[in-house]
Amino acid sequence: MTFQELGLKKEILEALDKLGFETPTAIQEQAIPEILNNASDLVGLAQTGTGKTAAFGLPMIQLIDFSSKKTQGLVVAPTRELCIQIAKDFESFSTKFKKANIVAIYGGASFENQAKQLKSGAQIIVATPGRLCDMIRRKKADLSHVAYVALDEADEMLNMGFKEDIDFILEQTPYDKRTWLFSATMPKEVAAIAKNYMVQPAEISVGTKNAGNKNIEHIYYKVDDRDRYPALKRVIDFAPDIFGLIFCRTKRETQQVAERLIKDGYNADPLHGDLSQSQRDRVMKKFRDRSIQILVATDVAARGIDVDDVTHVINYNLPDDIESYTHRSGRTARAGRKGTSIIIVNNREERKIWSVEKVIKAKIKQGVIPSGDEVCERQLMNLVDRVVQADVKESQIAPYLPAVEAKFEDLTKEQLIKHFVSLEFNQFLKYYENAKDINYTGKGRDKEGKSSRKGDRDRDRGRDRDRGKGRDRRERRDRGDGKGFNRNVDGDSTTIYVNLGSKVIQDKGHLIRIVCDEGGVAGKNIGRIRMMEKFSFLDVAPKVAEKLVHHLNGSEVDGKKIRAEIANN
Ligand code: AMP
Repeated sequence: MTFQELGLKKEILEALDKLGFETPTAIQEQAIPEILNNASDLVGLAQTGTGKTAAFGLPMIQLIDFSSKKTQGLVVAPTRELCIQIAKDFESFSTKFKKANIVAIYGGASFENQAKQLKSGAQIIVATPGRLCDMIRRKKADLSHVAYVALDEADEMLNMGFKEDIDFILEQTPYDKRTWLFSATMPKEVAAIAKNYMVQPAEISVGTKNAGNKNIEHIYYKVDDRDRYPALKRVIDFAPDIFGLIFCRTKRETQQVAERLIKDGYNADPLHGDLSQSQRDRVMKKFRDRSIQILVATDVAARGIDVDDVTHVINYNLPDDIESYTHRSGRTARAGRKGTSIIIVNNREERKIWSVEKVIKAKIKQGVIPSGDEVCERQLMNLVDRVVQADVKESQIAPYLPAVEAKFEDLTKEQLIKHFVSLEFNQFLKYYENAKDINYTGKGRDKEGKSSRKGDRDRDRGRDRDRGKGRDRRERRDRGDGKGFNRNVDGDSTTIYVNLGSKVIQDKGHLIRIVCDEGGVAGKNIGRIRMMEKFSFLDVAPKVAEKLVHHLNGSEVDGKKIRAEIANN
Protein backbone atom coordinates (compact mmCIF):
# COMPACT_ATOMS: atom_id res chain seq x y z
CA MET A 1 0.00 0.00 0.00
CA THR A 2 1.12 3.56 -0.69
CA PHE A 3 -0.08 6.76 0.94
CA GLN A 4 -1.60 7.69 -2.42
CA GLU A 5 -3.65 4.49 -2.47
CA LEU A 6 -4.99 5.37 0.98
CA GLY A 7 -6.71 8.36 -0.62
CA LEU A 8 -4.56 11.23 0.64
CA LYS A 9 -4.44 14.56 -1.21
CA LYS A 10 -1.51 15.80 -3.26
CA GLU A 11 -0.53 18.47 -0.71
CA ILE A 12 -0.29 15.87 2.05
CA LEU A 13 1.61 13.42 -0.16
CA GLU A 14 4.18 16.14 -0.87
CA ALA A 15 4.59 16.85 2.83
CA LEU A 16 5.06 13.13 3.56
CA ASP A 17 7.62 12.88 0.82
CA LYS A 18 9.56 15.69 2.43
CA LEU A 19 9.38 13.93 5.81
CA GLY A 20 10.72 10.75 4.23
CA PHE A 21 7.61 8.68 5.05
CA GLU A 22 7.62 6.12 2.25
CA THR A 23 5.10 3.47 3.19
CA PRO A 24 2.22 3.65 5.64
CA THR A 25 2.53 1.78 8.94
CA ALA A 26 -0.07 -0.86 9.87
CA ILE A 27 -2.21 1.51 11.91
CA GLN A 28 -2.08 4.13 9.15
CA GLU A 29 -3.17 1.57 6.54
CA GLN A 30 -6.22 0.79 8.62
CA ALA A 31 -7.14 4.16 10.07
CA ILE A 32 -6.66 6.55 7.13
CA PRO A 33 -9.15 4.98 4.67
CA GLU A 34 -11.55 4.24 7.52
CA ILE A 35 -11.59 7.90 8.55
CA LEU A 36 -11.67 9.28 5.02
CA ASN A 37 -14.29 6.96 3.57
CA ASN A 38 -16.63 6.22 6.44
CA ALA A 39 -18.37 8.70 8.65
CA SER A 40 -18.33 6.57 11.77
CA ASP A 41 -16.45 6.98 15.03
CA LEU A 42 -13.30 5.01 15.59
CA VAL A 43 -11.43 3.20 18.37
CA GLY A 44 -7.78 2.52 17.61
CA LEU A 45 -5.70 0.25 19.76
CA ALA A 46 -2.08 1.09 19.18
CA GLN A 47 1.09 1.62 21.15
CA THR A 48 3.25 4.71 20.80
CA GLY A 49 5.81 4.30 18.06
CA THR A 50 3.36 2.69 15.66
CA GLY A 51 2.77 5.91 13.72
CA LYS A 52 -0.62 6.62 15.25
CA THR A 53 -0.20 10.40 15.25
CA ALA A 54 -0.16 10.36 11.45
CA ALA A 55 -2.92 7.74 11.44
CA PHE A 56 -5.42 10.29 12.76
CA GLY A 57 -3.48 13.46 11.87
CA LEU A 58 -3.28 12.98 8.11
CA PRO A 59 -7.00 12.33 7.53
CA MET A 60 -7.94 15.07 10.00
CA ILE A 61 -5.84 17.57 8.05
CA GLN A 62 -7.37 16.37 4.80
CA LEU A 63 -10.92 16.87 6.12
CA ILE A 64 -10.34 20.39 7.52
CA ASP A 65 -11.45 23.43 5.52
CA PHE A 66 -8.44 25.71 5.94
CA SER A 67 -10.18 28.59 4.16
CA SER A 68 -12.28 28.99 7.31
CA LYS A 69 -10.77 30.20 10.56
CA LYS A 70 -13.18 28.22 12.74
CA THR A 71 -11.86 25.46 14.97
CA GLN A 72 -12.89 22.21 13.28
CA GLY A 73 -10.39 19.70 14.62
CA LEU A 74 -9.50 18.96 18.24
CA VAL A 75 -6.85 16.62 19.59
CA VAL A 76 -6.71 15.96 23.33
CA ALA A 77 -3.59 14.34 24.78
CA PRO A 78 -2.50 13.69 28.37
CA THR A 79 0.74 15.67 28.68
CA ARG A 80 2.25 18.89 27.45
CA GLU A 81 5.20 17.07 25.86
CA LEU A 82 2.91 14.86 23.85
CA CYS A 83 0.71 17.82 22.98
CA ILE A 84 3.70 19.80 21.67
CA GLN A 85 4.91 16.78 19.73
CA ILE A 86 1.53 16.18 18.09
CA ALA A 87 1.17 19.86 17.17
CA LYS A 88 4.65 19.78 15.63
CA ASP A 89 3.80 16.63 13.64
CA PHE A 90 0.55 18.22 12.45
CA GLU A 91 2.44 21.30 11.33
CA SER A 92 4.86 19.22 9.31
CA PHE A 93 1.95 17.32 7.71
CA SER A 94 0.18 20.54 6.71
CA THR A 95 3.03 22.69 5.38
CA LYS A 96 1.36 22.87 1.95
CA PHE A 97 -1.79 24.45 3.37
CA LYS A 98 -0.72 28.05 3.69
CA LYS A 99 -3.66 29.12 5.87
CA ALA A 100 -3.32 26.24 8.31
CA ASN A 101 -3.03 27.32 11.93
CA ILE A 102 -2.46 24.56 14.46
CA VAL A 103 -2.28 25.72 18.05
CA ALA A 104 -1.00 23.77 21.05
CA ILE A 105 -2.72 24.49 24.37
CA TYR A 106 -1.04 23.09 27.48
CA GLY A 107 -0.27 23.98 31.07
CA GLY A 108 3.04 25.33 32.33
CA ALA A 109 3.26 28.04 29.66
CA SER A 110 1.74 31.50 29.28
CA PHE A 111 -2.06 31.40 29.19
CA GLU A 112 -2.22 34.81 27.50
CA ASN A 113 0.10 33.84 24.63
CA GLN A 114 -1.91 30.73 23.92
CA ALA A 115 -5.18 32.68 24.10
CA LYS A 116 -3.72 35.17 21.61
CA GLN A 117 -2.83 32.34 19.23
CA LEU A 118 -6.39 31.03 19.45
CA LYS A 119 -7.78 34.49 18.73
CA SER A 120 -6.08 34.57 15.34
CA GLY A 121 -8.15 31.51 14.35
CA ALA A 122 -6.94 27.94 14.89
CA GLN A 123 -8.51 25.32 12.62
CA ILE A 124 -6.97 22.61 14.79
CA ILE A 125 -6.35 22.74 18.55
CA VAL A 126 -4.07 20.20 20.16
CA ALA A 127 -4.54 20.39 23.92
CA THR A 128 -4.07 18.88 27.33
CA PRO A 129 -7.39 18.58 29.19
CA GLY A 130 -6.69 20.90 32.12
CA ARG A 131 -5.57 23.96 30.18
CA LEU A 132 -8.23 23.48 27.53
CA CYS A 133 -10.94 23.48 30.22
CA ASP A 134 -9.52 26.77 31.53
CA MET A 135 -9.54 28.23 28.01
CA ILE A 136 -13.16 27.18 27.49
CA ARG A 137 -14.29 28.57 30.84
CA ARG A 138 -12.58 31.86 30.15
CA LYS A 139 -14.20 31.93 26.71
CA LYS A 140 -10.91 31.80 24.82
CA ALA A 141 -11.63 28.57 22.98
CA ASP A 142 -14.80 27.99 20.98
CA LEU A 143 -15.45 24.33 20.20
CA SER A 144 -18.94 24.80 18.79
CA HIS A 145 -17.80 24.09 15.22
CA VAL A 146 -15.58 21.12 15.97
CA ALA A 147 -16.28 18.29 13.54
CA TYR A 148 -13.44 15.90 14.43
CA VAL A 149 -12.09 14.99 17.86
CA ALA A 150 -9.12 12.71 18.49
CA LEU A 151 -8.55 11.48 22.05
CA ASP A 152 -4.96 10.30 22.15
CA GLU A 153 -3.57 7.96 24.82
CA ALA A 154 -7.01 7.73 26.37
CA ASP A 155 -5.88 5.16 28.93
CA GLU A 156 -3.24 7.55 30.21
CA MET A 157 -5.69 10.44 30.40
CA LEU A 158 -7.93 8.33 32.61
CA ASN A 159 -4.97 7.26 34.74
CA MET A 160 -4.20 10.90 35.31
CA GLY A 161 -7.73 11.62 36.50
CA PHE A 162 -8.90 13.65 33.50
CA LYS A 163 -12.26 11.90 33.08
CA GLU A 164 -14.33 14.88 34.26
CA ASP A 165 -12.33 17.28 32.12
CA ILE A 166 -12.84 15.16 29.03
CA ASP A 167 -16.56 14.99 29.74
CA PHE A 168 -16.64 18.75 30.05
CA ILE A 169 -14.65 19.30 26.84
CA LEU A 170 -16.80 16.95 24.80
CA GLU A 171 -19.94 18.66 26.09
CA GLN A 172 -18.72 21.83 24.34
CA THR A 173 -18.50 20.13 20.94
CA PRO A 174 -21.45 19.52 18.58
CA TYR A 175 -23.41 16.32 18.97
CA ASP A 176 -22.74 15.15 15.41
CA LYS A 177 -18.95 15.46 15.49
CA ARG A 178 -16.84 12.40 14.80
CA THR A 179 -14.68 11.02 17.60
CA TRP A 180 -11.57 8.92 17.23
CA LEU A 181 -10.12 7.39 20.37
CA PHE A 182 -6.61 5.96 20.52
CA SER A 183 -5.22 3.99 23.40
CA ALA A 184 -2.25 1.70 23.99
CA THR A 185 -4.25 -0.51 26.30
CA MET A 186 -7.93 -1.23 26.65
CA PRO A 187 -8.79 -1.42 30.35
CA LYS A 188 -12.48 -1.52 31.22
CA GLU A 189 -12.49 2.21 31.90
CA VAL A 190 -11.39 3.05 28.34
CA ALA A 191 -13.89 0.61 26.85
CA ALA A 192 -16.59 2.37 28.89
CA ILE A 193 -15.49 5.76 27.54
CA ALA A 194 -15.64 4.44 24.01
CA LYS A 195 -19.18 3.31 24.71
CA ASN A 196 -20.28 6.59 26.28
CA TYR A 197 -18.72 9.00 23.83
CA MET A 198 -19.12 7.21 20.54
CA VAL A 199 -21.75 5.83 18.27
CA GLN A 200 -20.99 2.31 17.04
CA PRO A 201 -17.29 2.99 16.59
CA ALA A 202 -15.27 1.03 14.07
CA GLU A 203 -12.45 -0.81 15.82
CA ILE A 204 -8.94 -1.12 14.53
CA SER A 205 -5.93 -2.48 16.29
CA VAL A 206 -2.33 -3.25 15.61
CA GLY A 207 -1.19 -6.26 17.54
CA THR A 208 -3.41 -8.09 19.96
CA LYS A 209 -5.32 -6.30 22.67
CA ASN A 210 -3.09 -5.09 25.49
CA ALA A 211 -0.14 -7.01 24.04
CA GLY A 212 3.25 -5.38 23.94
CA ASN A 213 5.50 -4.87 20.98
CA LYS A 214 7.08 -8.16 19.86
CA ASN A 215 10.41 -6.47 19.18
CA ILE A 216 10.91 -5.78 22.87
CA GLU A 217 12.84 -8.26 24.98
CA HIS A 218 11.68 -8.06 28.61
CA ILE A 219 14.11 -9.08 31.36
CA TYR A 220 13.93 -8.69 35.12
CA TYR A 221 16.71 -8.75 37.68
CA LYS A 222 16.10 -9.52 41.32
CA VAL A 223 18.32 -7.82 43.85
CA ASP A 224 18.32 -6.84 47.46
CA ASP A 225 16.93 -3.32 47.80
CA ARG A 226 20.30 -1.85 48.78
CA ASP A 227 21.78 -3.21 45.53
CA ARG A 228 19.28 -1.52 43.26
CA TYR A 229 21.65 1.25 42.21
CA PRO A 230 24.74 -1.00 41.80
CA ALA A 231 22.52 -3.30 39.69
CA LEU A 232 21.53 -0.36 37.52
CA LYS A 233 25.19 0.50 37.04
CA ARG A 234 26.06 -3.04 36.03
CA VAL A 235 23.22 -3.18 33.54
CA ILE A 236 24.42 0.08 31.99
CA ASP A 237 28.08 -0.93 32.04
CA PHE A 238 27.23 -4.24 30.41
CA ALA A 239 25.66 -2.35 27.50
CA PRO A 240 28.42 0.07 26.45
CA ASP A 241 26.45 1.44 23.49
CA ILE A 242 23.32 2.03 25.51
CA PHE A 243 21.03 4.91 24.56
CA GLY A 244 18.65 4.49 27.40
CA LEU A 245 15.71 5.75 29.34
CA ILE A 246 15.53 4.99 33.07
CA PHE A 247 12.14 5.28 34.73
CA CYS A 248 11.76 6.14 38.39
CA ARG A 249 8.59 6.44 40.39
CA THR A 250 8.95 9.90 41.84
CA LYS A 251 10.55 13.19 40.94
CA ARG A 252 12.82 12.92 43.94
CA GLU A 253 14.04 9.44 43.03
CA THR A 254 14.55 10.58 39.44
CA GLN A 255 16.71 13.48 40.57
CA GLN A 256 18.70 11.31 42.98
CA VAL A 257 19.41 8.53 40.48
CA ALA A 258 20.43 11.05 37.82
CA GLU A 259 22.72 12.87 40.25
CA ARG A 260 24.41 9.63 41.32
CA LEU A 261 24.94 8.60 37.71
CA ILE A 262 26.38 11.99 36.79
CA LYS A 263 28.67 11.87 39.83
CA ASP A 264 29.79 8.40 38.77
CA GLY A 265 30.80 9.74 35.37
CA TYR A 266 27.82 8.75 33.22
CA ASN A 267 26.46 10.96 30.52
CA ALA A 268 23.03 11.31 32.13
CA ASP A 269 20.38 13.93 32.89
CA PRO A 270 17.09 13.99 34.82
CA LEU A 271 13.68 14.87 33.35
CA HIS A 272 10.82 15.51 35.75
CA GLY A 273 8.11 17.96 36.64
CA ASP A 274 10.22 20.00 39.08
CA LEU A 275 12.23 21.32 36.15
CA SER A 276 10.95 24.38 34.36
CA GLN A 277 9.57 23.97 30.86
CA SER A 278 12.72 25.47 29.32
CA GLN A 279 14.97 23.14 31.36
CA ARG A 280 12.90 20.20 30.20
CA ASP A 281 13.06 21.34 26.59
CA ARG A 282 16.84 21.65 26.90
CA VAL A 283 17.21 18.14 28.35
CA MET A 284 14.95 16.70 25.66
CA LYS A 285 16.94 18.40 22.93
CA LYS A 286 20.17 17.00 24.35
CA PHE A 287 18.67 13.51 24.44
CA ARG A 288 17.33 13.81 20.91
CA ASP A 289 20.74 15.05 19.69
CA ARG A 290 22.32 12.19 21.60
CA SER A 291 24.54 14.52 23.56
CA ILE A 292 23.29 12.64 26.60
CA GLN A 293 23.29 8.86 26.62
CA ILE A 294 20.97 8.20 29.55
CA LEU A 295 17.80 10.04 30.46
CA VAL A 296 16.34 9.44 33.92
CA ALA A 297 12.65 10.33 33.93
CA THR A 298 9.29 10.13 35.63
CA ASP A 299 6.40 8.61 33.71
CA VAL A 300 4.62 11.91 33.29
CA ALA A 301 7.65 13.84 32.06
CA ALA A 302 8.64 11.10 29.62
CA ARG A 303 5.29 10.78 27.91
CA GLY A 304 6.07 13.01 24.99
CA ILE A 305 9.43 11.48 24.23
CA ASP A 306 9.58 10.79 20.55
CA VAL A 307 13.04 9.36 20.00
CA ASP A 308 13.35 6.36 17.75
CA ASP A 309 16.67 4.79 18.70
CA VAL A 310 16.26 4.12 22.42
CA THR A 311 18.03 0.78 22.99
CA HIS A 312 17.05 0.16 26.62
CA VAL A 313 14.22 1.14 28.90
CA ILE A 314 15.14 0.44 32.51
CA ASN A 315 12.48 0.31 35.20
CA TYR A 316 14.51 1.35 38.23
CA ASN A 317 11.25 0.88 40.08
CA LEU A 318 8.05 -0.45 38.53
CA PRO A 319 5.23 2.08 38.21
CA ASP A 320 2.45 1.98 40.83
CA ASP A 321 0.02 1.51 38.01
CA ILE A 322 1.19 -1.59 36.19
CA GLU A 323 -0.60 -0.61 32.96
CA SER A 324 1.94 2.21 32.63
CA TYR A 325 4.61 -0.41 32.02
CA THR A 326 3.38 -0.75 28.43
CA HIS A 327 3.91 2.97 27.92
CA ARG A 328 7.37 2.83 29.43
CA SER A 329 8.58 -0.15 27.45
CA GLY A 330 6.98 1.31 24.32
CA ARG A 331 9.67 4.00 24.30
CA THR A 332 12.06 1.41 22.89
CA ALA A 333 11.73 -0.80 19.79
CA ARG A 334 10.08 2.02 17.87
CA ALA A 335 9.74 2.15 14.10
CA GLY A 336 10.54 -1.56 13.66
CA ARG A 337 13.74 -1.62 15.70
CA LYS A 338 14.54 -4.05 18.50
CA GLY A 339 14.85 -2.99 22.13
CA THR A 340 15.24 -4.24 25.69
CA SER A 341 13.06 -3.41 28.65
CA ILE A 342 14.65 -4.16 32.00
CA ILE A 343 12.98 -4.28 35.39
CA ILE A 344 14.85 -4.20 38.67
CA VAL A 345 12.88 -5.67 41.56
CA ASN A 346 13.55 -6.72 45.11
CA ASN A 347 12.34 -10.02 46.49
CA ARG A 348 8.95 -8.77 47.60
CA GLU A 349 8.27 -6.96 44.36
CA GLU A 350 8.83 -10.05 42.28
CA ARG A 351 5.11 -10.86 42.23
CA LYS A 352 4.50 -7.58 40.41
CA ILE A 353 6.32 -9.21 37.49
CA TRP A 354 3.34 -11.57 37.11
CA SER A 355 1.00 -8.58 36.86
CA VAL A 356 3.23 -7.07 34.19
CA GLU A 357 3.23 -10.37 32.31
CA LYS A 358 -0.57 -10.32 32.33
CA VAL A 359 -0.61 -6.80 30.94
CA ILE A 360 1.91 -7.43 28.15
CA LYS A 361 0.72 -11.00 27.58
CA ALA A 362 4.28 -12.23 27.41
CA LYS A 363 6.74 -13.96 29.66
CA ILE A 364 9.43 -11.90 31.32
CA LYS A 365 12.57 -13.89 31.84
CA GLN A 366 14.72 -13.49 34.91
CA GLY A 367 18.21 -12.31 34.03
CA VAL A 368 21.43 -12.85 35.93
CA ILE A 369 23.26 -9.64 36.74
CA PRO A 370 26.69 -9.91 35.15
CA SER A 371 29.67 -10.32 37.42
CA GLY A 372 32.34 -7.65 37.68
CA ASP A 373 34.62 -9.71 35.42
CA GLU A 374 31.95 -10.06 32.77
CA VAL A 375 31.30 -6.32 32.78
CA CYS A 376 35.03 -5.60 32.47
CA GLU A 377 35.40 -8.03 29.60
CA ARG A 378 32.43 -6.52 27.75
CA GLN A 379 33.76 -2.99 28.22
CA LEU A 380 37.27 -3.97 27.16
CA MET A 381 36.08 -5.66 23.98
CA ASN A 382 33.91 -2.67 23.19
CA LEU A 383 36.91 -0.40 23.59
CA VAL A 384 38.99 -2.62 21.31
CA ASP A 385 36.21 -2.71 18.70
CA ARG A 386 35.99 1.08 18.78
CA VAL A 387 39.74 1.34 18.25
CA VAL A 388 39.66 -1.10 15.33
CA GLN A 389 36.70 0.65 13.71
CA ALA A 390 37.97 4.20 14.30
CA ASP A 391 37.74 6.45 11.26
CA VAL A 392 41.42 7.31 10.60
CA LYS A 393 41.89 10.62 8.80
CA GLU A 394 45.30 9.84 7.36
CA SER A 395 46.19 13.20 5.87
CA GLN A 396 45.01 15.20 8.88
CA ILE A 397 46.98 13.26 11.46
CA ALA A 398 50.09 12.75 9.30
CA PRO A 399 51.87 15.93 10.46
CA TYR A 400 51.66 14.87 14.13
CA LEU A 401 52.70 11.27 13.64
CA PRO A 402 56.51 11.61 13.69
CA ALA A 403 56.41 13.26 17.14
CA VAL A 404 53.90 10.69 18.41
CA GLU A 405 55.95 7.81 17.08
CA ALA A 406 59.07 9.22 18.75
CA LYS A 407 57.27 9.18 22.10
CA PHE A 408 56.29 5.54 21.62
CA GLU A 409 59.76 4.51 20.45
CA ASP A 410 60.64 2.57 23.59
CA LEU A 411 57.39 0.62 23.78
CA THR A 412 56.82 -2.69 22.05
CA LYS A 413 53.47 -3.26 20.33
CA GLU A 414 52.33 -5.44 23.28
CA GLN A 415 53.32 -2.78 25.80
CA LEU A 416 51.64 -0.08 23.77
CA ILE A 417 48.38 -2.05 23.72
CA LYS A 418 48.57 -2.57 27.48
CA HIS A 419 49.22 1.11 28.18
CA PHE A 420 46.47 2.26 25.89
CA VAL A 421 43.89 -0.13 27.26
CA SER A 422 44.83 0.65 30.87
CA LEU A 423 44.42 4.35 30.33
CA GLU A 424 40.78 3.94 29.32
CA PHE A 425 40.04 0.94 31.41
CA ASN A 426 41.59 1.38 34.84
CA GLN A 427 38.50 3.07 36.28
CA PHE A 428 36.38 0.01 35.44
CA LEU A 429 38.94 -2.39 36.84
CA LYS A 430 39.10 -0.38 40.01
CA TYR A 431 35.33 -0.18 40.45
CA TYR A 432 34.76 -3.84 39.73
CA GLU A 433 37.78 -5.12 41.63
CA ASN A 434 36.35 -7.56 44.19
CA ALA A 435 32.79 -6.82 42.98
CA LYS A 436 30.40 -9.19 44.70
CA ASP A 437 27.52 -11.14 43.22
CA ILE A 438 24.49 -8.90 43.69
CA ASN A 439 21.85 -11.29 42.36
CA TYR A 440 19.31 -11.86 45.12
CA THR A 441 19.98 -15.07 46.99
CA GLY A 442 17.94 -14.55 50.13
CA LYS A 443 21.07 -15.06 52.17
CA GLY A 444 22.78 -12.49 54.27
CA ARG A 445 19.58 -10.60 55.01
CA ASP A 446 17.49 -10.92 58.13
CA LYS A 447 15.79 -14.24 58.81
CA GLU A 448 12.34 -13.54 57.36
CA GLY A 449 13.92 -12.05 54.29
CA LYS A 450 12.43 -8.74 55.38
CA SER A 451 14.47 -5.67 54.96
CA SER A 452 15.00 -3.56 58.00
CA ARG A 453 14.97 -0.48 55.86
CA LYS A 454 12.20 2.02 56.38
CA GLY A 455 11.56 2.58 52.67
CA ASP A 456 10.86 -1.11 52.18
CA ARG A 457 8.55 -1.32 55.14
CA ASP A 458 6.58 1.62 53.78
CA ARG A 459 6.24 -0.08 50.45
CA ASP A 460 4.99 -3.24 52.16
CA ARG A 461 2.34 -1.27 53.93
CA GLY A 462 1.40 0.40 50.65
CA ARG A 463 0.82 -3.00 49.08
CA ASP A 464 -1.38 -4.14 51.93
CA ARG A 465 -3.56 -1.19 51.18
CA ASP A 466 -3.65 -2.10 47.50
CA ARG A 467 -5.81 -5.07 48.46
CA GLY A 468 -8.66 -2.66 49.03
CA LYS A 469 -8.43 -1.52 45.44
CA GLY A 470 -11.87 -2.76 44.36
CA ARG A 471 -13.41 -0.46 46.90
CA ASP A 472 -11.16 2.38 45.83
CA ARG A 473 -12.38 2.01 42.26
CA ARG A 474 -16.00 2.07 43.37
CA GLU A 475 -15.30 5.21 45.29
CA ARG A 476 -13.59 6.74 42.30
CA ARG A 477 -16.68 6.08 40.24
CA ASP A 478 -18.74 7.84 42.85
CA ARG A 479 -16.81 10.99 42.12
CA GLY A 480 -18.14 10.95 38.54
CA ASP A 481 -21.24 12.98 39.44
CA GLY A 482 -19.00 16.00 39.98
CA LYS A 483 -20.55 16.70 43.41
CA GLY A 484 -19.49 14.12 45.92
CA PHE A 485 -15.84 14.17 46.77
CA ASN A 486 -16.54 12.94 50.26
CA ARG A 487 -15.18 9.49 49.81
CA ASN A 488 -12.20 8.45 51.84
CA VAL A 489 -9.22 6.53 50.57
CA ASP A 490 -9.35 3.02 52.04
CA GLY A 491 -10.74 4.20 55.33
CA ASP A 492 -7.26 5.13 56.44
CA SER A 493 -6.08 8.51 55.21
CA THR A 494 -3.77 11.40 55.93
CA THR A 495 -4.97 14.99 55.79
CA ILE A 496 -2.93 17.54 53.91
CA TYR A 497 -3.23 21.29 54.15
CA VAL A 498 -2.61 23.37 51.00
CA ASN A 499 -2.73 27.12 50.72
CA LEU A 500 -5.03 26.96 47.68
CA GLY A 501 -8.70 27.77 48.13
CA SER A 502 -11.72 28.89 46.15
CA LYS A 503 -10.15 32.32 45.65
CA VAL A 504 -7.66 30.92 43.16
CA ILE A 505 -9.06 27.46 42.37
CA GLN A 506 -12.19 27.02 40.27
CA ASP A 507 -13.48 23.85 41.87
CA LYS A 508 -12.43 20.62 43.52
CA GLY A 509 -11.70 18.99 40.17
CA HIS A 510 -9.28 21.80 39.38
CA LEU A 511 -7.57 21.30 42.74
CA ILE A 512 -7.24 17.55 42.13
CA ARG A 513 -5.68 18.26 38.75
CA ILE A 514 -3.12 20.61 40.23
CA VAL A 515 -2.31 18.31 43.13
CA CYS A 516 -1.92 15.26 40.86
CA ASP A 517 0.08 17.11 38.25
CA GLU A 518 2.46 18.85 40.60
CA GLY A 519 2.58 16.05 43.16
CA GLY A 520 3.08 13.27 40.62
CA VAL A 521 0.34 10.99 42.00
CA ALA A 522 -2.74 9.40 40.45
CA GLY A 523 -6.16 10.89 41.18
CA LYS A 524 -7.27 7.73 42.95
CA ASN A 525 -5.08 8.67 45.90
CA ILE A 526 -7.08 11.78 46.66
CA GLY A 527 -10.15 11.46 48.85
CA ARG A 528 -12.35 13.99 50.60
CA ILE A 529 -11.64 17.66 49.93
CA ARG A 530 -12.74 20.54 52.12
CA MET A 531 -12.16 23.82 50.33
CA MET A 532 -12.23 27.19 52.09
CA GLU A 533 -11.59 30.56 50.53
CA LYS A 534 -7.84 30.62 51.06
CA PHE A 535 -6.90 27.02 51.76
CA SER A 536 -8.06 23.43 51.51
CA PHE A 537 -7.74 20.15 53.33
CA LEU A 538 -7.34 17.00 51.31
CA ASP A 539 -7.58 13.45 52.61
CA VAL A 540 -5.00 11.41 50.75
CA ALA A 541 -3.71 7.86 50.79
CA PRO A 542 -1.01 7.77 53.51
CA LYS A 543 1.52 6.17 51.15
CA VAL A 544 1.58 9.29 48.97
CA ALA A 545 1.18 11.97 51.68
CA GLU A 546 4.85 12.79 52.25
CA LYS A 547 5.68 12.68 48.59
CA LEU A 548 2.76 14.98 47.78
CA VAL A 549 3.75 17.52 50.39
CA HIS A 550 7.35 17.43 49.24
CA HIS A 551 6.49 18.00 45.58
CA LEU A 552 3.77 20.53 46.18
CA ASN A 553 5.97 22.74 48.29
CA GLY A 554 7.70 25.17 46.02
CA SER A 555 5.50 24.46 42.96
CA GLU A 556 3.49 27.34 41.58
CA VAL A 557 -0.04 27.92 40.32
CA ASP A 558 -0.52 31.07 38.25
CA GLY A 559 2.52 32.60 39.92
CA LYS A 560 1.38 31.69 43.45
CA LYS A 561 3.80 29.53 45.42
CA ILE A 562 2.12 26.43 46.80
CA ARG A 563 2.61 25.65 50.47
CA ALA A 564 1.56 22.25 51.76
CA GLU A 565 1.92 20.37 55.01
CA ILE A 566 0.56 17.34 56.75
CA ALA A 567 -2.25 18.50 59.03
CA ASN A 568 -2.94 16.86 62.36
CA ASN A 569 -5.78 14.41 61.88
P1 AMP B 1 4.04 7.86 16.66
O1 AMP B 1 3.55 6.48 16.98
O2 AMP B 1 2.97 8.68 16.01
O3 AMP B 1 4.64 8.52 17.86
O4 AMP B 1 5.22 7.73 15.53
C1 AMP B 1 6.44 7.10 15.79
C2 AMP B 1 7.56 7.55 14.86
O5 AMP B 1 7.41 6.99 13.55
C3 AMP B 1 7.64 9.05 14.67
O6 AMP B 1 9.00 9.42 14.71
C4 AMP B 1 7.05 9.28 13.30
O7 AMP B 1 7.60 10.44 12.70
C5 AMP B 1 7.48 8.02 12.56
N1 AMP B 1 6.56 7.61 11.48
C6 AMP B 1 5.22 7.58 11.54
N2 AMP B 1 4.70 7.10 10.40
C7 AMP B 1 5.74 6.81 9.60
C8 AMP B 1 5.85 6.26 8.28
N3 AMP B 1 4.78 5.91 7.57
N4 AMP B 1 7.07 6.10 7.76
C9 AMP B 1 8.17 6.45 8.48
N5 AMP B 1 8.15 6.95 9.73
C10 AMP B 1 6.94 7.13 10.29
